[in-house]
Amino acid sequence: MGLLKPVTKKPPLRLGGSGATQVSSLRPQAVEKLAPCIGNCPSGTDIRGWITTIAQREKTGLSEEQAFEKAWRTIVEYNPFPAVMGRVCPHPCEEKCNRTEKDGAVAVNCLERFIGDWALEKGLPLGKLEEDPKPESVGVIGAGPAGLSCAYQLARRGYPVTVYEAFPEAGGMLRYGIPRYRLPYDVLDAEVKRILDLGVELKLNTAVGRDVPVEELRARHKAIFVGIGAHRGKKMGVPGEEGPGVLTGTEFLNRANSGERVDVGSSVAVIGGGDTAIDAARVALRLGAKVTIVYRRTRTEMPAIDSEVEQALEEKIDIVFLAAPVAVLRDGQKLRALRVQRMELGEPDSSGRRRPVPVVGSEYEIPVDTVIAAISQEPEAERVAALGAEKGWFKADEGGKVSDGVWAGGDDLDLGLATIAVYQGRRAADTIHAALRGLPPLRKDDRPKIPVSRIKLDTYEAKPRAERAILSVEERLADGDAEIDHGITREQFLAEVGRCFSCGLCFDCEKCWMYCQVNCFAKLEEKQPGHYFKIKLELCDGCKKCAEECPCGFLEMV
Ligand SMILES: Cc1cc2nc3c(=O)[nH]c(=O)nc-3n(C[C@H](O)[C@H](O)[C@H](O)COP(=O)(O)OP(=O)(O)OC[C@H]3O[C@@H](n4cnc5c(N)ncnc54)[C@H](O)[C@@H]3O)c2cc1C
Ligand code: SF4
Ligand code: SF4
Ligand code: SF4
Repeated sequence: MGLLKPVTKKPPLRLGGSGATQVSSLRPQAVEKLAPCIGNCPSGTDIRGWITTIAQREKTGLSEEQAFEKAWRTIVEYNPFPAVMGRVCPHPCEEKCNRTEKDGAVAVNCLERFIGDWALEKGLPLGKLEEDPKPESVGVIGAGPAGLSCAYQLARRGYPVTVYEAFPEAGGMLRYGIPRYRLPYDVLDAEVKRILDLGVELKLNTAVGRDVPVEELRARHKAIFVGIGAHRGKKMGVPGEEGPGVLTGTEFLNRANSGERVDVGSSVAVIGGGDTAIDAARVALRLGAKVTIVYRRTRTEMPAIDSEVEQALEEKIDIVFLAAPVAVLRDGQKLRALRVQRMELGEPDSSGRRRPVPVVGSEYEIPVDTVIAAISQEPEAERVAALGAEKGWFKADEGGKVSDGVWAGGDDLDLGLATIAVYQGRRAADTIHAALRGLPPLRKDDRPKIPVSRIKLDTYEAKPRAERAILSVEERLADGDAEIDHGITREQFLAEVGRCFSCGLCFDCEKCWMYCQVNCFAKLEEKQPGHYFKIKLELCDGCKKCAEECPCGFLEMV
């Protein structure tokens, strides 16, 4: 685990015990904490658990392959898409990693991708959680990450699940939004197939409310999960917008990802600063156009994934900050230019970001053939409104329930990330299962958090963070579909798992065992991450040395 020196046990100096030999009345207690990476992963993956399974494999007697499989099985308890998430998740887990304070966060996202790809190469199937088949059938609307996550968690408990999907293929925005150079089809398809292999029925080209009436679904299924996403791009609301040459971001990406070579001409303006805008711009560039992104705030406020913005800039996409469209100009029907107005930042708005305020008299024109408005999306909820949509969106309680028999999750609750959709699909599956089996509500994770102030940073050896290999700009543009990110090697992977501090859970550094002068710490025969020592409290004299030395904050004096 990256400690500087091997430890050797010193001979006892004190005899310990009780009465006159007591140093204090405090006693050590082993308390597992919630690591910040886990608390900040929207899908709630036990990141520390799976990483330390591999890092501590030799201590626990696992071969590399056994540890890899155990680690992968830990991830898929929470998230059946590690290879996908290891590519597209903007990894909020890393933002809160305690190792950031030393020499850079553990590269959790790269690690997740590596282990996800390893399991795909091995062809590992997802496992069942309960063997007994359940009689109640569940209908899932939408085969995006929310719907598939819900279907997976129910199918592995033995429920018959049918997923209804309007599009010809499964994956939702992972397939029809995110471009191939970020997420290859074969990776997505393989992780989807593993879910279907559990016996989930997938009905493609089947829109609920168009091809199957909502009432029929209610009659067929005991519970319904709504995961329809948010596919309708919002319009800009400027004059000249209606007509050829103006597309929304989701419409453009959907057509491009469906295999159409969209004719965008030689010059394109993309409006917006989120992932959809950056993806649309980079796809338009790959169609041969010169691309300008127009964003009304500054780089600091841009919600798009930072590395995607960097790569777009490297590819010579121009970003005009502090500007907003005011009109689409046409010669007859043909689009001629986009008129934009300069903005400046005013007071913060409800999103907490500073509000863009127009600068009077600052309008100018950008000559373009196509305008792609990637400003926001909303659900196409009309078809399934009878299931409880309000003003076009679904609202759910904290268990994901909308009303009796109806649950929802993912972008149709609020625009979010794939990892949020995965969590909300799982959350709904858990509460559907509890409702159908008459089980008590799920318990909240009440483990105390482990802040960086409790980690002994100096105890851990400095090690540089693993960096992924990515294609050069020339290579990217020579083959527009080629995956840009090539991840990390097995050697990098094995080194990177060793950078995890194991925050709040024992990793057998032996410090307590070495420093305790009265031999309270006895090594266990059966070793597991977090379970290496038995504390013999009857010998303790309350000196506190063990808790003071424990580098990961596992030991408390109580
Ligand atoms: C361009 C773009 C890029 C993105 N990039 C990232 C990224 O890099 N990282 C990240 O984490 N997130 C990203 N996101 C967000 C992420 O894709 C979404 O948060 C996530 O896909 C939401 O999952 P979902 O299952 O709720 O909905 P979706 O993925 O949208 O899936 C909903 C599915 O429901 C189907 N459906 C809709 N109506 C019906 C109906 N009536 N009957 C049957 N089926 C229906 C749709 O066809 C669709 O397949 C991106 C989004 C976009 C648009
Ligand atoms: S899903 Fe995202 S936040 Fe969660 S572990 Fe993976 S990269 Fe981190
Ligand atoms: S060091 Fe490991 S356990 Fe601690 S926050 Fe980072 S990834 Fe999580
Ligand atoms: S000091 Fe080391 S061995 Fe002892 S409890 Fe803490 S992490 Fe585990």
